[in-house]
Amino acid sequence: MTDPDELLATLRALQASDLPVHGGRTLAYVYDSGLAEVDRVAREAVGAFAGSNGLDPTAFPSLLTMENDLVGITARLVDGPGTVVGNVTSGGTESVLLAVQGARDAARVDRPAMVLPATAHAAFHKAAHYFGVEAVLVPTRDDFRADPAATARALDDLGERAVLVVASAPSYAHGVVDPVTELAALAAERGIRCHVDACIGGWVLPYAARLGRAVPPWTFAVEGVTSISVDLHKYAYAPKGASVLLHRTAALRRPQLFASAAWPGYTMLNSTMQSTRSGGPLAGAWVSVKSIGDTGYELLTREVFAAVDAIVAGATDIPGLHLVAPPDSTLVALSTDASCDPFTVCDEMASRGWYVQPQLTHGGRPATIHLSVSAATGPHVPEFLVALAESVGTAQEAGPVVVDPGVAAYVATLDPTTLTDADFDGLLVAAGLVGDGPGLALPTRMAEVNALLDLASPELREAVLVSFLDRLQRPNGEDY
Ligand SMILES: *Cc1c(COP(=O)(O)O)cnc(C)c1O
Repeated sequence: MTDPDELLATLRALQASDLPVHGGRTLAYVYDSGLAEVDRVAREAVGAFAGSNGLDPTAFPSLLTMENDLVGITARLVDGPGTVVGNVTSGGTESVLLAVQGARDAARVDRPAMVLPATAHAAFHKAAHYFGVEAVLVPTRDDFRADPAATARALDDLGERAVLVVASAPSYAHGVVDPVTELAALAAERGIRCHVDACIGGWVLPYAARLGRAVPPWTFAVEGVTSISVDLHKYAYAPKGASVLLHRTAALRRPQLFASAAWPGYTMLNSTMQSTRSGGPLAGAWVSVKSIGDTGYELLTREVFAAVDAIVAGATDIPGLHLVAPPDSTLVALSTDASCDPFTVCDEMASRGWYVQPQLTHGGRPATIHLSVSAATGPHVPEFLVALAESVGTAQEAGPVVVDPGVAAYVATLDPTTLTDADFDGLLVAAGLVGDGPGLALPTRMAEVNALLDLASPELREAVLVSFLDRLQRPNGEDY
């Protein structure tokens, strides 16, 4: 056996190339409370339950207890009546997938469809892909919020085929809450489900409201809302791998529950998509939620909104930069004027030790810079704003990134429906992404790559990125 210290040292060395998960300088993918002791205990809990299996709640009753605790706490947080039931899933995507699956299977109609604001999370498109539920997209209003009148028309066009209306609280890309009251009423009038995707806002908006901030209604207090997803691994600051899906009643959850006795082994009985289900993330989330507690989350929410307000105020003072929409929650979307481009600003921020996330042009709306602000970012906001001002300044000196016209012309010839390996190779050469070896040579600066993707249609972006993933995920050919 290899020396354990050596293995752990190797892992730490590998981890050195990852984005930092602590320190508040990574403004997407990770959520940092800044509470080192809570993190330490939560990670210990993950380890302690890493081998436990939620497959059978009678064999591991501890997991059932933790799950029911978390579901109850989450239900109360989002104004759930006593009838609410739910489950802990592996993440927001699984919660969304199950909400769509449940709506489809309860309705039992031919060619089921769901109506989504164009800003709904990509997880709904994944659900459409997996479950054969057509995603009918409705463009948002100018304020990036769902358009109830257009949603009503889409529902009327679909008639019986409509099984679900979706709202976000808030949307990931722009950080605004949809008009849930109106959307849920449209669903209720038609006797169909309304899912509120509060994956990213669910744990923070209730506290924001309690602190007196203006939060549009989005919880179970809104009539017609039938299910809500809330990620624990976002603003509950739990270790990765935990989300909650709530249904207003047990009857609404019923199609989600699955049993199979159609084989000679144990009767499989599952409430979520996983069967063998590690107790680790559940225990980690339970410890995070219990140790931070209601007053702790209120404090963290106060901190995170102080950071959001300071970022909004500071960023809008930077010439060349503006706010896409006043944030309803903890997500900020920024865009640039013609003096520079968001992709270069993201690269410049990275070179200053800050990760901010580029979002491509979509639906006629310009490319943006996304910030998921964490409580731990709070103390560093002044530094963040200095880095942002410098980054915009440097990006302005460089001018907007331009894609080589030859490369742009090559991209224009590509057909996403028939993109071949040879096309992808051609693209890599054109974009200068081929290294000496067989692998991909990833540049440290991504602006050119993002600008190239930005030129492509969404369909071509998908095809190119799937080819990219296919190349990345190849075995290393090492023995143990
Ligand atoms: C993060 C997120 C999801 C998906 O959650 P994962 O945990 O990444 O699977 C869904 N909806 C919204 C609004 C999100 O922010």
